[in-house]
Amino acid sequence: MEWLAGPLGFSKYLLTGFVMYGVFMGVERLRPVEPRQPWHHLRFNLVWYVVYSCVSLAIQALGISRVITLAQTWLGAPWVILPAPQNAWTYGLMALLHLLVTDFFYYWFHRWQHTRPFLWEQHKFHHSDVSLNVTSTRRVHWLEDPLLLIFLGLPMGLLFQFNGLALGILAFVEILWLQFIHMNLRLELGWFSSVVTGPQYHRIHHSFQDEHIDKNFSAFFPFWDIVFKTYHHPRRGEFPPTGLTSTEPYNHLWRANLLPFREWLGPNYLNLYPRPKRRAGSAGRS
Ligand SMILES: [Zn+2]
Ligand SMILES: [Zn+2]
Repeated sequence: MEWLAGPLGFSKYLLTGFVMYGVFMGVERLRPVEPRQPWHHLRFNLVWYVVYSCVSLAIQALGISRVITLAQTWLGAPWVILPAPQNAWTYGLMALLHLLVTDFFYYWFHRWQHTRPFLWEQHKFHHSDVSLNVTSTRRVHWLEDPLLLIFLGLPMGLLFQFNGLALGILAFVEILWLQFIHMNLRLELGWFSSVVTGPQYHRIHHSFQDEHIDKNFSAFFPFWDIVFKTYHHPRRGEFPPTGLTSTEPYNHLWRANLLPFREWLGPNYLNLYPRPKRRAGSAGRS
């Protein structure tokens, strides 16, 4: 029965994801920004979540995370060994430092996803969602994981060794927080928006309006947006529409899988990509 362990573990992972989505969606019903988001938008994201998880698992099975240990051995890293926390206070401080450092590398990766055309072609599928909600969290192209390994996992693995932290629990908290900030929830944090991110903060990042373009890149702490001058403080009642200005339909499984490759290689490569029906008038961030 050993052969069942893999599929059962994967099913459990998917089920946990769906249960978490279900809980967040229940909370969204209390005070949604968009009460009537079309069901087929949500259904597409749920199906995409399964596709994304399958491909990500296959990529992980290739052992790509070994790149970090290989680089550490080769370069004699990690270079900064941090002391293990001795009590609850220092544990909290270390956990906070870990999140802050993670967010620093995420900030720059995310900023480059918007400012470097090569990376934008991979990231724009995430921004094509016109019905932002908790299911948008994993609406990312499956190249995200290898890219995060290069831009976040590798530099952090070379620079720091955090001792005595339950990194698995921290990763779980990060996933929950990413789901929280994508919620279709009319929640305003007021002045606290400059301390931690939230659904309104990240919704502004997903807006296609000129004043919001390339703003609010941080995942956890607006601190990095403030330091690097990309911060947009959410105003009272500011819940802009989201998506791209392109009229191309993105909720299509085959197209979503091939989208970055089409943009990098041209629309006619291998004739695999269905030609989209383009309408006149596309402008802005597309
Ligand atoms: Zn983005
Ligand atoms: Zn997002």
